[in-house]
Amino acid sequence: DVADLGLRWKPGFAALGPAFLTHLRPTPLPDPYWVGHSDAVARELGLPADWRQSDTTLAALTGSLPVAGTNPFATVYSGHQFGVWAGQLGDGRAIMLGETEGGLELQLKGAGRTPYSRGGDGRAVLRSSIREFLCSEAMHGLGIPTTRALSVTGSDARVFREEPESAAVVARVAPSFIRFGHFEHFAANQREDELRALADYVIDRYYLACRTTDRFNGNAYAAFLEAVSERTAALLAQWQAVGFCHGVMNTDNMSILGLTIDYGPFQFLDGFDPRHICNHSDTSGRYAFNQQPNVAYWNLFCLAQALLPLIGDQEVAVAALESYKTVFPNAFEARMRTKLGLADAAETDRALIERVLKLLAAGKVDYTIFWRRLSQYMADGNAEPVRDLFLDRAGFDAWLLSFSERHAQSVRSEAADLMLQSNPKYVLRNHLGQQAIEAAAQKDFSGVATLLTLLETPFEEHPGADAYAGFPPDWASTIEISCSS
Ligand code: AMP
Ligand code: MG
Ligand code: MG
Repeated sequence: DVADLGLRWKPGFAALGPAFLTHLRPTPLPDPYWVGHSDAVARELGLPADWRQSDTTLAALTGSLPVAGTNPFATVYSGHQFGVWAGQLGDGRAIMLGETEGGLELQLKGAGRTPYSRGGDGRAVLRSSIREFLCSEAMHGLGIPTTRALSVTGSDARVFREEPESAAVVARVAPSFIRFGHFEHFAANQREDELRALADYVIDRYYLACRTTDRFNGNAYAAFLEAVSERTAALLAQWQAVGFCHGVMNTDNMSILGLTIDYGPFQFLDGFDPRHICNHSDTSGRYAFNQQPNVAYWNLFCLAQALLPLIGDQEVAVAALESYKTVFPNAFEARMRTKLGLADAAETDRALIERVLKLLAAGKVDYTIFWRRLSQYMADGNAEPVRDLFLDRAGFDAWLLSFSERHAQSVRSEAADLMLQSNPKYVLRNHLGQQAIEAAAQKDFSGVATLLTLLETPFEEHPGADAYAGFPPDWASTIEISCSS
């Protein structure tokens, strides 16, 4: 038996050959059921409108039935975890079905053991699968580059973490799931031919402009490194501006396309705390919120090191990373400017941004609510709801005066529109995810669907859904999320 998803497939990554991957089949999970699904992603894949109607699709997306036209595989990579070389890792529980003719890879996360599973069981638990599904689509709704998620399917089959939990599979979608760690793997093993083949594949598929660049005397590999560095800088600017903490920025969790990838213990900040650590396992705070831009740069150095045999010159490799130091702050400032409703740039903007972030940190003010209320203030002129968020009223009033002066020439309604389009009303706070997860564990999947609807269009008001846009309850701060998933 096979499932025909009605998609056409092409060789894609698998054409690189056996040094890069192992062909295998997913391990079936019994009696699967739908937990969540995205019709938007289904459309992007080119699935038919009634794509969820058949039981074979459900079985296929849980890894229990082969998909016609595919030859599934798991890929090998290595990486640095928490700053330490970890050696070989690889897709330990993610199995790639293949790449569609439209250029999207479809991967099943939690579909069973692979040669790269090491001690793991190849499974994913329901709670982390729901989090990955919702956050993938939330990030996309926010306009932040990310891998996508077509579905979460569950099964009553048990997997053991700290306690028994139910298993689930996320069907993930992206143009490519290649990580920095793929390059590190072949560099560390001194397999220069494979390293070059991988770089050529990625450049030809996703960074074609590097072939014809005159940067670095036409060194395509250096231009590639620079392009990855700049995409990564742009991504980090978006994370920092929206208050997203990834939690496990190991080099094997860094997308070569600058996508947010591998959602684990991530968190959208509640009260603004620059030093916030969202990963319960991150005892040293290596991946604290305010460390992320520097960690990304550190990770890019690992990538540069890996690409060195191709680039050929250490100084050129270092030069290719140089622009990160300007692209990141400029991109961050640009994002913050739109959050402030400013359509143009002024010298004083950096100070205005730094001052407000300091005030938010001093009062641990709720980050998302602050920006949304400030946007509302721009629309209706009522400063009280924003002001109420601060204990240091004088400090806030002084800042608001500077903000208003900066907007002296603005058309207020235009600034308000820009702000309401730049400051989301809805983000996937931990406690919202937690409530949907607890209901789903009781087979009530409506919470997942409701959150998806809100998070797909997080800048819209969604009348009646204000409960999803409020302050976190007290218990939210006691949620502990670790790497265990
Ligand atoms: P992560 O911290 O989730 O990015 O995972 C790091 C590495 O461990 C990757 O190579 C994963 O494929 C692997 N891994 C994580 N969880 C499991 C699991 N339950 N079974 C097998 N491999 C896993
Ligand atoms: Mg990972
Ligand atoms: Mg993970």
